[in-house]
This record gives sequence, structure tokens and C-alpha cells, in this order.
Amino acid sequence: MAECGVCFRHCRLKEGQIGFCGGRIAKDGRTEAYNYGRITSLALDPIEKKPLNRFFPGSRILSVGSFGCNLRCPFCQNYEISWSDQAKRFALTAETIGPEALAAIADETRSRGNIGVAFTYNEPLIGYEFVRDTARLVKAAGMKNVMVTNGTAELSVWDELRPYIDAMNIDLKGFTDRYYAKVLGGDRRQVLAFIEAAVGTCHVELTTLIVPGENDGEDEMRALSQWVARLRNPDGTGVPLHISRFFPQFHMRDRTATPVRTVYRLADVARESLEYVYTGNC
Ligand code: SF4
Repeated sequence: MAECGVCFRHCRLKEGQIGFCGGRIAKDGRTEAYNYGRITSLALDPIEKKPLNRFFPGSRILSVGSFGCNLRCPFCQNYEISWSDQAKRFALTAETIGPEALAAIADETRSRGNIGVAFTYNEPLIGYEFVRDTARLVKAAGMKNVMVTNGTAELSVWDELRPYIDAMNIDLKGFTDRYYAKVLGGDRRQVLAFIEAAVGTCHVELTTLIVPGENDGEDEMRALSQWVARLRNPDGTGVPLHISRFFPQFHMRDRTATPVRTVYRLADVARESLEYVYTGNC
């Protein structure tokens, strides 16, 4: 048996077995990235789309995704590549682009405003070896590395990536253990520890998706933003918070889109503690 040490699930896998996330496999008594270099999405996106509002604003970044995820958010926007049945099919059909080839594409697109590579769309931490190997090359070429992540990984994984990652948008999806455990299939404590380890070493922005009836209370937003207010980015400024609007999709179609006024009201609550608060999808 191999025990995966990447996230709180610590999957115990038989040789050749694939983990809960669909992105790691047991091989020779340990686990490795089954999705290494298996690319499902590649696009040159505005950096603000990650979203990162205070990291090279106005630039573009080569955004790359693979397949698999270690959470089970029922409203996932990227379910085709995260944890739907279709995501499992990507394991068989995804194109392979190795670190050297991806770094070369990043270099070739500099003239179109590209500043580097963003590991995004699915959860990059479950395939951290590919992120590490590619980011090392991208950094050596004088470009930037970004991760868009749910922050659900052990700190030993962050230690592998820390030398190469310049900025992250990390989901802080709510501020109760119940919501993380029961609705998202996650572990809030692991996310908080990951965020605390990340700030101070790279630029961090956070995103909270407001789901009606789940995490839309003012008290929860007040507690969340007061916790975020303790954090400082490497330049000494506060950590930006993006508060975004939910739309019913995938396995969560039993409720309406978040009212725009709710998003604005919660943004005002967050501004009681935070310097940089942005609203999204409104
Ligand atoms: S990263 Fe994947 S295989 Fe590893 S413990 Fe988490 S869910 Fe399991």
C-alpha cells in the first residue's frame, strides 16, 4: 500500500490504484502525479480573470489545466475536468505537454503580453510535481508563475513549490468547518494553514464564492475578513479578497443565483476589516 501525503485525505492506495482526486496513482509503493503534463485546457487569459487584481494588472498569462480535484464542490464551474464522469475520460484522452514544451509556449507568447504560466482550471496541487518542474523552467526564463488553488494540501507540498511560485489566488470558500466538511468535502483547517504559509512568501489574493443559505451570513463574512486582516503580502499590503456570486450549476441547481445586493452587502462587511475587497460575477 502507498499512502498519499499530498492532502488531508491521505488516500491509501494499492499498486496502480488512482486516488480520490483522480489525479494521483500508486506506483512502486508511493504516489505520483497521474495527470503529469496531461493538459485539458490552455489559454492566454487576462491576469484579472484568475482573479488577481494586484499582480501585474493589465497583463496576460498562459493558463493551463489538467484533470482531477481533491474537493467535491457541488457547484463546480469546471466540473468537466475536476470530478465529473467526463473528467475521468480526460485521463485517457488529454494531450501531453511536458514542462519544456509548456515553458517554450510561454516564452513564445511574451510578445502577446504573456508574463508566465498560471496553473489553474483543475486543482494544481494534486499534480504538484508538474507545477514544480514547469515553474522551475518558467522562472529560469525570467517569467512569472501563478497558481489558482483550493489550498487543500499539506505544507510539505507548498515547500516543494515555494521557490518558484510568484502569486496565488487561493479559495477561502467559507469560514465554518461544517461547510467545508459537509458541502465541499474539504478541510478548512488545512486551507487556513496553507494560506498562512503562503502569505509572506508570494503575493496572495483570496476568493470566497457566496452560496445562498450556506455562507451568506454577515457574521461569517465578518469572522472571515477579520482573520484575513491579520495577513500581509510580501510588499506589506493587506491580502485582497474577491467576493463572488454563485450561479446554480452541476449538482447544485436547487437554489437561485446569489442576489447581487447580497454580494455587495457582504463586500461592505468585509471592508470593515480589509483594504482591498472586490466583487465578481455581478
Ligand atoms: S491528493 Fe488525491 S490521492 Fe492524494 S490524498 Fe489527496 S485525494 Fe488522495
